[in-house]
Amino acid sequence: MDSQSLYSRLPAIDKLLNDDELAVTLTKHGREAVLQALRQRLEDARRIIRDHGGLPGWASSRQTLLDTVRVDLERRRQPALRPVFNLSGTVLHTNLGRATQSESAIAAVVQAMRHPVTLEYDLDGAGRGHRDHAVSELLRELTGAEAACVVNNNAAAVLIVLSTVAAGREVIVSRGELVEIGGAFRMPDVMRQAGCRLVEVGATNRTHLRDYADAIGPDTALLMKAHTSNYAIQGFTSSVGEAELAQLAAQHGLPLATDLGSGALADLTRFGLPAEPMPQRMIADGVSLVSFSGDKLLGGPQAGLIIGDAEWIARIQKHPLKRALRCDKMTLAALEATLRLYLEPDRLVDTLPTLMKLGRSQQLIRVQAERLAKRLSDVFDPEIAVGHAPCLSQIGSGSLPVDSLPSWALTLKPRSGKGARLESLAAALRSLPRPVIGRLADDQLWLDLRCLDDEDAFVEQLMRPGVLSEGLTQ
Ligand SMILES: *Cc1c(COP(=O)(O)O)cnc(C)c1O
Repeated sequence: MDSQSLYSRLPAIDKLLNDDELAVTLTKHGREAVLQALRQRLEDARRIIRDHGGLPGWASSRQTLLDTVRVDLERRRQPALRPVFNLSGTVLHTNLGRATQSESAIAAVVQAMRHPVTLEYDLDGAGRGHRDHAVSELLRELTGAEAACVVNNNAAAVLIVLSTVAAGREVIVSRGELVEIGGAFRMPDVMRQAGCRLVEVGATNRTHLRDYADAIGPDTALLMKAHTSNYAIQGFTSSVGEAELAQLAAQHGLPLATDLGSGALADLTRFGLPAEPMPQRMIADGVSLVSFSGDKLLGGPQAGLIIGDAEWIARIQKHPLKRALRCDKMTLAALEATLRLYLEPDRLVDTLPTLMKLGRSQQLIRVQAERLAKRLSDVFDPEIAVGHAPCLSQIGSGSLPVDSLPSWALTLKPRSGKGARLESLAAALRSLPRPVIGRLADDQLWLDLRCLDDEDAFVEQLMRPGVLSEGLTQ
């Protein structure tokens, strides 16, 4: 067929728009969106005729064309930010949004989104309140700090602390603590951005109190410690603790700041987890400013929390960067609700999803794995062996880098054709309506069940007819 007659087989756009078949679609999406989708497809069809001299299958009849346009319109409605099953074994997975929120935080965010709220409105005085007020009061109560404030994330917290306390002057940091955290947060770069001069002291593995003392000069503005969140130096090491360093700083009339990274407001050893530095401990040790993340071990929304001396916090609040880095009402609502849970620490394992997941025992996860292996035994192609095995979960987000938690995984292993088949199995699970994210190792796909929060939804999705027909069964 010559291309002229191919072009003429494409229906006219106004004919399509008036087609009875499109009535429901028009009501659902509106004329403008439908028109645009039709135009796009007709344009694609003409381009294909021009370049390849043939009609694409989807344009071969009015019916297939309309079906394709309907699918296009539905696809455009699907959000890019989609819920997944995080069975990667990393609990606080930065690429999957770190901490999932508590029910009370979710409810608070919904309220803050739906209604006007007392964000900067003081009901007692009916005047202007401060947006950090509620969170700051809670942080004072929970940590014993004089004052607190909140910014967009912990990187922002470090930036504003340095900008406020030490712009144009020197900051003394141990060489062993010049860390890079994932996503381009490098202590030396943040220092430069804040206009500070970095003075490195000690050696990578060992720094002593006298190293700090020797470096203090007329231009020193701040002593700084950074928690080496995502790596550990082992062997012949030594570093100076906050208590000792705070004394040295005080002797010289200097502030001491600590970037804790994650920090944990609750004592994690109570839940059978390894110890993590606590912000309240740092305050007790005399640190002037402590910063930590809202969405790491704290289990709240993305935020950077700063606690410490009232005078310094007041200066941070007045810094022009604070306006640029302030949190929105949704974040503040979620953070306040999360912090309130810490007022009842004994209940945290039931109320805070992050601790719930971190605290799950290997035995409990194993029971679940055995049950799931049975439930799913004939869902997969017989070519895929469904089993279960012990594994180790990571806490993630640089928290407690060396420690991992004994866990249990569902394992999926192709009986033959290893590499490619395994890849296509992983890809098929990722392309499910609610994608399943696992981990490939030792020629099998590991689905660590520590973070499986909805077992029935997980199983139902796999059992739905058709969902495993691509990739898994050939
Ligand atoms: C995670 C981390 C940061 C960055 O915190 P965000 O909340 O991700 O911005 C900074 N410093 C340390 C030590 C960290 O562990």
